[in-house]
Amino acid sequence: MNIHLISLFHSQDAKKYGVDKILTPFIEDVKILENSGMKVSFADQPIYGTIAQVTGDNLGLNSVLGYVESFSANHYCRMCLIDKASAQTAFSESDPRVMLQTRSTNEEHFSHLVENPREKSCFGIKRNSVLNSLSYFKVSDNFVFDIMHDILEGVGQYEIKLLFEYLKQNFISFENILQRVYAFNYGFMDKKNRPTGVNIFSTGNGIGLNASQTLCLIQNLPLIFGDIVPEGDRHWHLLLLLLHIVNIVFSPCITEGMTVFLKHLIEEHHRLFTVLYPQNNLIPKHHFMIHYPECMCQIGPLVHVWSMRYEAKQIL
Ligand SMILES: [Zn+2]
Repeated sequence: MNIHLISLFHSQDAKKYGVDKILTPFIEDVKILENSGMKVSFADQPIYGTIAQVTGDNLGLNSVLGYVESFSANHYCRMCLIDKASAQTAFSESDPRVMLQTRSTNEEHFSHLVENPREKSCFGIKRNSVLNSLSYFKVSDNFVFDIMHDILEGVGQYEIKLLFEYLKQNFISFENILQRVYAFNYGFMDKKNRPTGVNIFSTGNGIGLNASQTLCLIQNLPLIFGDIVPEGDRHWHLLLLLLHIVNIVFSPCITEGMTVFLKHLIEEHHRLFTVLYPQNNLIPKHHFMIHYPECMCQIGPLVHVWSMRYEAKQIL
């Protein structure tokens, strides 16, 4: 039986009071559920339970689980111990440099921090989260990645921007690119999600779209620009690889075989990216993608744990 417990708190409160302090009353309740169980009317025996997974966006998860709260840190990944430089050339979990965070490595790093209180973090771990006080759940058992922020507000927009620059250098002007994007008929179902206000000149990695608009645009890019790109174009191939990845990652149900295929797609995609854009770095969200296949094997399709629904309910 799955019960979704939603504990929403504002990042400003987390900063003011500390995440662990906010979570403690909730964790005390979960401990009762783990040890004494809960009496229910439809069963003679009490029902026991614990936390299955904690969901949230990257910063929220790193903060709740006790990892570093900066993605420019040397060890920013909550899933593995890789450093920032090696992450540029490690394209799958099979790479020997990708050593996964486990209960035992976490405990080693916690004790290192206790022995060396001057150090602020150790292999991405900043503190021992209150979640680790539970008997049947530890932070290393959490396999959630937020595909909305990773792909739709991260990798997707970053690569659309680079593709537009490539199209501008070789085929059509920025004005024509925008004209095609705005004039395209996205159909009745995607009418509300059609991209508006595309900002190709923004200084960051994005192009100023929200998550739904990015998904709409990325899925229609082959129809919008397919006629001007010659067959066999490698930049176009990179887009098609990303689309294959998006189709699997955003699917509400998947097979084990699909996760193996996904692993090879991500590896090929990242390798080709580094060949085509040697002057551009892979962003941390690219690195998170290499963990998707295994995480999907562990907890199922990631689309069921994304932040899309929470952000729709955000109180500003
Ligand atoms: Zn990692």
